[in-house]
Amino acid sequence: MPISDEFAFIQKIIPPNTFQTGLVMGIGDDAALFRTRENTEQIICMDTMVEHVHFKKTTMSPFQIGYKALAVNISDIAAMGGTPLYYLVSIAIPSNWDEQDIYEIYQGMQNLASRFSMDLIGGDTTSTNGGLVITVTVIGEIMKEKHLLRRNARDKDIVFVTGTIGDSAGGLDLLLKNGRNYPYNDNEQFLIHKHQMPVPRVKEGNILAKYERVALNDVSDGLASELYEIAEASGVSIIIEKDKLPLSIPLRQIYQEKAFQYALFGGEDFELVGTCSPIDWENIKRDFEQQKIPIQAIGHVENGPARVFIQEKGSLKILEKKGYNHFKK
Ligand code: ADP
Ligand code: MG
Repeated sequence: MPISDEFAFIQKIIPPNTFQTGLVMGIGDDAALFRTRENTEQIICMDTMVEHVHFKKTTMSPFQIGYKALAVNISDIAAMGGTPLYYLVSIAIPSNWDEQDIYEIYQGMQNLASRFSMDLIGGDTTSTNGGLVITVTVIGEIMKEKHLLRRNARDKDIVFVTGTIGDSAGGLDLLLKNGRNYPYNDNEQFLIHKHQMPVPRVKEGNILAKYERVALNDVSDGLASELYEIAEASGVSIIIEKDKLPLSIPLRQIYQEKAFQYALFGGEDFELVGTCSPIDWENIKRDFEQQKIPIQAIGHVENGPARVFIQEKGSLKILEKKGYNHFKK
């Protein structure tokens, strides 16, 4: 059944409880109100997911669509070193989507939101003749002057990345071939899960924000593309080593050589990639080890043109500046 009553719909998506003590007015008036804390900066970001462009009903369940629409935004807050607090959701609903599916989208968002103690504080509901469009705005905060910018990379810095990369692109490849209801084996399920339900790296971003000068980006469009953004914003050259790229065992086993293509140019891993001084790197590595969170050095920064190079078996090549094209092979 499509949605018949917008007001009844809004009543049903209001979360049963709130987390943030700064919240004065959430859903239910003309606008939301919350108190800001002293000595903090507000971080705001917005991202849209469009049916047939970012997802299909055959690759993601409604729950996963909601989860991921929020996850990609939380990831942007994490890439600044911040902590997410509130979110707003604008949703344009086509008539061929059931009301139940829309509630499941909200459940997917709420599932992730409660993990990070975030409150849904508003949004907008409309209908559309095209595919479903979901736009999420996230509001976060960070201690004053602790934010991490892409322009912070300097000569001799270490380049690092959290977790493993390329898994999401591998998962998407499987989903486009077989759909989401196929009997996948454990290795395949690992990759698919990374595509459908990535965990935004807030804890990692918070650790990195304790350091004075870290350049940081999240891996949304692919490692190559994110490294170019840091190189260009900082006016430096970045050199990475192919051997050091952290690839998961499932990705290596299923995709062999193609695994590197996915790691470099496949997007949506939502890991954090950045640079720091060699001295800070020793402490950052220790912090991550203590918390048992994976992080890996993959290269270094040099003075030079704003380019990214990749070292492979002793030879240095310019890394192509390309990202992943949704649904294009
Ligand atoms: P208005 O006519 O003032 O724009 P709405 O009827 O659009 O009011 O919204 C009423 C309340 O419900 C507001 O607090 C708004 O932020 C919230 N809201 C509307 N649509 C959504 C949605 N899709 N998700 C979350 N909150 C929503
Ligand atoms: Mg409105």
